[in-house]
Amino acid sequence: MKILMVTSEAVPFAKTGGLADAVSALSLALSKEGHDVRIIMPRYYRIDRKKLEHLSGAMAVHPGYQEIWTGVYKGMLPDSTVPVYFIDHEQSYGRDGIYGVPGETDFNDNPQRFSLLGHAAFQLCKKIEWIPDIIHAHDWAAALAPILLKFNERHGVFKNTASVFTIHNIGYQGVYGKHLFPYTGLNWDNFYAAGFEDWDRMNFLKGALVSSDKLTTVSPTYAKEIQRPEYGFRMDGILRYRSNDVTGILNGVDTDIWNPEKDPLIASTYGVKSIKKKLLNKEALQKHMGLPVNPDIPLVGMITRLVDQKGVAELFGPTYGSAYRICSEIELQMVVLGSGEAWCEAELSALNQSLPNFSAYIGYDEALSHLIEAGSDFFLMPSRYEPCGLNQMYSLLYGTLPIVRNTGGLADTVINYNEQTGEGTGFVLDHLSPQSIYDTTGWAAYAWYNKPEHIKEMKLRAMKQKFGWDVSAKKYVDVYNAALKDIR
Ligand code: ADP
Repeated sequence: MKILMVTSEAVPFAKTGGLADAVSALSLALSKEGHDVRIIMPRYYRIDRKKLEHLSGAMAVHPGYQEIWTGVYKGMLPDSTVPVYFIDHEQSYGRDGIYGVPGETDFNDNPQRFSLLGHAAFQLCKKIEWIPDIIHAHDWAAALAPILLKFNERHGVFKNTASVFTIHNIGYQGVYGKHLFPYTGLNWDNFYAAGFEDWDRMNFLKGALVSSDKLTTVSPTYAKEIQRPEYGFRMDGILRYRSNDVTGILNGVDTDIWNPEKDPLIASTYGVKSIKKKLLNKEALQKHMGLPVNPDIPLVGMITRLVDQKGVAELFGPTYGSAYRICSEIELQMVVLGSGEAWCEAELSALNQSLPNFSAYIGYDEALSHLIEAGSDFFLMPSRYEPCGLNQMYSLLYGTLPIVRNTGGLADTVINYNEQTGEGTGFVLDHLSPQSIYDTTGWAAYAWYNKPEHIKEMKLRAMKQKFGWDVSAKKYVDVYNAALKDIR
């Protein structure tokens, strides 16, 4: 099958979140299954042109008012045969930032920038004379591709092409003033027909939810949750209407990178048969974070974007968050790695000063994130919502028991501890509140001190879990086939 991935991010070229990992990993897994997968994305300023092949001739794209001449560069996903085509257009992508500069509002010309991406997808296919069976678009920035397929392109060479749209996070929708709608290149009838209209503004994600042949999201539980008002970010009605076309497929884990048996970024590698060596990582982590070195105290780790989605208000909210109480009343240590909202960074710094058993590093640090996964006993992830979540899966594979909220991909991957039988792979809280985070963390610490044999069994059970992309890729192929059946 020929599959074109349309995306605003893909590792190793550009990343702001899990989307970038998922697109590349899924592409590689599909390619290994023998599919012809290609990726199209913008060439942001930081992607070095010198390392790419320039395709001869400029490519004309017509998003709306104007004709735009773009360059096309070609690279490959590392160690693969998956080509990545980069759309080069200085005015649109020749700046720092993918959607905006961190800490500031998004670029106000995003509708133009990402309409260009959608149009370029079709022009590219014609240019390279490669017509995909499936156009698979990811998140709002790629939303125009399935919309254009349905309303403009399906009459010609793309008549046998079907579209699949994946929601990686429904909280981000690409909502802009409707005066920018003409930049999509669609006529005004489509403003309503294609589903863009959203309280008199334009909403890219909504357009894709209405227009794509099939919809997927990144875990089975999240697929159900987003059809409810509490989780749907106002899209629950459309998703209920399209319920038969929505599938949840859990993201996989890249076990070449996240594998405690061969991870070069941790102090000591270990596996199920050598789990004792995990303790060397605990010691290294305690040292690195300036905490007292002590194997006999439970260590709770956390790696997160400091944004509301992750439950940080309930945990670190000034005066009402439970982190202070957790660290002062429960005999444990806590390490946090994260960056994000300014109030939360300030709160972490304050906790750093006031608690001897708490240590936070504010920033982004890949190596430290591996050491936290390897060195912690527990991993705290009390998300308000979690489309899939990767860290809880990394934690399981590293024998670090997740303490999670019962939502989205967390609910699909972590089994709650049963203190009678010792079954389970982590600790699950239902309702998000400062008290429930406190209680569940306290419960985990209690088990650590009082049921060490259960904790040991759970760690080993967790490490044996399988989260391969090969399984997920097969499920995507089923969705692709269903989409093709719908249109052919
Ligand atoms: P999301 O994509 O919503 O941020 P996920 O758990 O799906 O959450 O994926 C987050 C990824 O980003 C993980 O690989 C995690 O380790 C990484 N990450 C998040 N914050 C940091 C940080 N401050 N330093 C290093 N890695 C981080």
